[in-house]
Amino acid sequence: MNHAHTYTTDDVLKALETSSRGLDHAEVQARAGQYGPNRLPMAPKESAFRRFFHQCNNVLIYMLIAAATITALLGEWIDASVIMGVVLLNALIGFIQEGKAADALSAIKAMLSQQAMVVRAGQQHVIDAIDLVPGDIVLLQAGDKIPADIRWLSVSAIQVQEAALTGESLPVVKHTAPVDADAELADRHCMGYSGTTISHGQGSGVVVATGGATEIGGISRLVSEVAPLSTPLIRQINRFANTLTGVTLAVAFITSLVGIWVWQYSLAEMFLAAVSLAVAAIPESLPAIVTITLAVGVQRMAKRQAIIRRLPAVETLGAVSVICTDKTGTLTRNEMTLKQIIQGRNHFTLSGTGYDPHGLISQHGAALNAQQHAAVSTLLSASSLCNDAVLRFKDDQWDVQGDPMEGAILVAAQKIGIDTDTLSRQCPRVDLIPFDAAHKYMATLHHDHNGTGIIYIKGAPEALLNVCDTALQGETYTPIDRAYWYQQIEYLASQGQRVLAVAQKASLPEQAQLRFDQTHDGFALLGLVGFIDPPREEAIAAIQACQRAGINVKMITGDHATTALAIGRQLGLKRIEKAMTGQWLSTLTETELDDQIIDVDVFARVNPEHKLRLVEALQRQGFIVAMTGDGVNDAPALKRADVGTAMGKGGTEAAKEAADMVLIDDNFATITHAIREGRIIYDNIRKSFMFILPTSVGEALIIMAAIIMGLEHLPLTPVLILWVNMVTAVTLALALAFEPAEQHVMQRPPRKADAQLLDRFLIWRVVFVAIFMMLGTFGIYSWQIAKHGDVLMARTVAVNTLVFFEIFYLFNARRMIDSVCNVSGLISNRMIWLAIGVLLLLQMGLTYYPGMQHLFGTRAIHLHDWFYVVIIASTVFFAVEAEKWWLRRRHPITAVST
Ligand code: ATP
Repeated sequence: MNHAHTYTTDDVLKALETSSRGLDHAEVQARAGQYGPNRLPMAPKESAFRRFFHQCNNVLIYMLIAAATITALLGEWIDASVIMGVVLLNALIGFIQEGKAADALSAIKAMLSQQAMVVRAGQQHVIDAIDLVPGDIVLLQAGDKIPADIRWLSVSAIQVQEAALTGESLPVVKHTAPVDADAELADRHCMGYSGTTISHGQGSGVVVATGGATEIGGISRLVSEVAPLSTPLIRQINRFANTLTGVTLAVAFITSLVGIWVWQYSLAEMFLAAVSLAVAAIPESLPAIVTITLAVGVQRMAKRQAIIRRLPAVETLGAVSVICTDKTGTLTRNEMTLKQIIQGRNHFTLSGTGYDPHGLISQHGAALNAQQHAAVSTLLSASSLCNDAVLRFKDDQWDVQGDPMEGAILVAAQKIGIDTDTLSRQCPRVDLIPFDAAHKYMATLHHDHNGTGIIYIKGAPEALLNVCDTALQGETYTPIDRAYWYQQIEYLASQGQRVLAVAQKASLPEQAQLRFDQTHDGFALLGLVGFIDPPREEAIAAIQACQRAGINVKMITGDHATTALAIGRQLGLKRIEKAMTGQWLSTLTETELDDQIIDVDVFARVNPEHKLRLVEALQRQGFIVAMTGDGVNDAPALKRADVGTAMGKGGTEAAKEAADMVLIDDNFATITHAIREGRIIYDNIRKSFMFILPTSVGEALIIMAAIIMGLEHLPLTPVLILWVNMVTAVTLALALAFEPAEQHVMQRPPRKADAQLLDRFLIWRVVFVAIFMMLGTFGIYSWQIAKHGDVLMARTVAVNTLVFFEIFYLFNARRMIDSVCNVSGLISNRMIWLAIGVLLLLQMGLTYYPGMQHLFGTRAIHLHDWFYVVIIASTVFFAVEAEKWWLRRRHPITAVST
């Protein structure tokens, strides 16, 4: 439908052969076959060939290619082909692993599929947006991303942010009247376009175009499926690799000069030695290992319900030092039950739990009298009409679609015998002002069959008391006693109940629209209702875990201060003497806020704009902030936070789009799990460094020592060095990516934001182990030469020693400073044993298989040589464990391991 904007609402429905009841299921199926899925066409995947060559686009690999070329020019064909073979193998491993990582990440992203509320065959359903077809009727509200191009059928104060499509940064007000045929896209106010976001209001529309036929589909025909696998850490590592390459070249050059001048080696000999040195020092597998560690971690997080939308968040998570979290649904279960009603001077209690509408309303154990019944019934009818939830009996249980608190009102209404469906037919809604976290109430306009108009309003009690001048007391309206009502609010809130006030006022019969200024005065208060929403057990445990891990937890809620403090106490938050309200916060200057923010853990009646100020204040104090949010207005705070976290179930599309991480289960405990995973990932990356670098440095030292000492032959040839680097990287180093958590991972303070990956501790460990490996390997080589003079045999023993050094050192590397001399330290990661098994087979092949002996210049060695190899190599294990023991004694664990 190209000109849907010129049609009236009735005509557009006719043209699309649909109605306000929506399409029936057979028609949906037929149209799905005809129009295909509602998604933008995908860009073709990069060809496998190109992806493969991408892997070679890396300075380290250029160096190897250059080395292979020059080696070939020198006529060393075997060496040249082995080096090239390693280059290709490296690219192949990177290609396979990165491909897997990218697939895993896009599979995880797909878990966040967009949903849409549709009306089909007269019933509301939530479906995947991909299944929409032209003619579907969709219901939309603030925070939703419009799932297809639609023609608005009804709007209530709808404003849409269309910047993605038109570049217009201000939200556009929508209406339902047709516009001129030649109106520009930005002026087609009766249309809603796929990919734009509703910033305000609610409404319904009919789908006119889906997938590639939408306006956005026309502009960006192709979307790339694969997100780039890059993060600040990966970039830091790439920079490090470049520096290392420069340093290696310089060292190789200087060492070669020493060889030529001091020992009169030939140019060709020295060139080969320089190649060995370069090949030794370059940790070619490091970038791939880091990417894989990140991908493995992201998958682990997804299994625990946290979806990472932006990869850099994985690193930041490990450094989070304060979590600002919503209350309702995140810390509490969001299973609301209406427990108390205060009507006039009477307090009523409701029995029953959950959404089952069976239960009694009573006062001190006695049923309501007729007069009380009428007043309570007015209160519950009003709040059932000023309500968007639907209560249904489905699959043998009662279920609420929509806001759980509104659902709880419907349940209470049914408990007193109100048939809410009949009620809404008798008194249909004409217009509404939707709930908004900024003004904290919702109002609706209704007309009954006699045409009498009435406005109902429900919302935060402080907001409502100001607009009421009378209150319903039994059957009469009396002037409102605000002091009394404030007391009652405090009374309910102090029990941790969420309090809502309900009021009404008459309107003119002819009034068809509800304006904001009509909600400012003249209401009659019908009463207060109090809901309980118990804290999640797992949130209490997670808060304790955060406190042990040095992470502050701050609750930032739209709820009443007293309710928030009561819940804060139940949850075990630390600083709960006072709550800072949004109103108080607005009066503070930046400096005052900075001074006070540390001492408060509960922020109540906070608007989304306040959240932004809070994030900024905490960041000024040097905190790394994770902030949760669900509403459309939370987007700026989520973007600003270091780890913006959106709710998967209750969150709007707008919030999800702004977030770095989405919690599938909306649960606070999930954030803690994600932080834990973040810390493990960072640890494992450090461990990979700690493991790979000593081998590289150690090998380089061996070559340097050999040249400087003027040895006739090098203990390790370039091809042997490459062999060691490759086989250990794909076996041992990779196993570290799967390393489980350190014992103290959640008992130490968060990592400092500016902490360097290569800190003094890591450099010390690298140098210490490298020297150890160098002395051991060089020593055994020299001893072998002295014993029998067979260079090839001595090299084979040396290369096996080096590999065994790595095997033993791998166990050390599993814990940064904790001891591994225990059952879990030795056997808790099965991948390690698997890796060692594979590596041993490869070493056997290298040593005894004639083909490999020919290629790599190795010889079969004697059984007793293996004995020396193992004895010498195992020394590193004991030396590093002794070093750790010494470190543990000198420093508290927390100081060193972070
Ligand atoms: P949190 O921010 O922790 O999720 P919250 O859900 O209480 O807390 P908001 O959704 O901003 O925060 O709600 C603020 C207040 O607005 C509530 O305490 C309640 O008084 C009122 N309120 C919430 N939902 C509605 C609604 N659907 N209709 C009317 N008033 C509401």
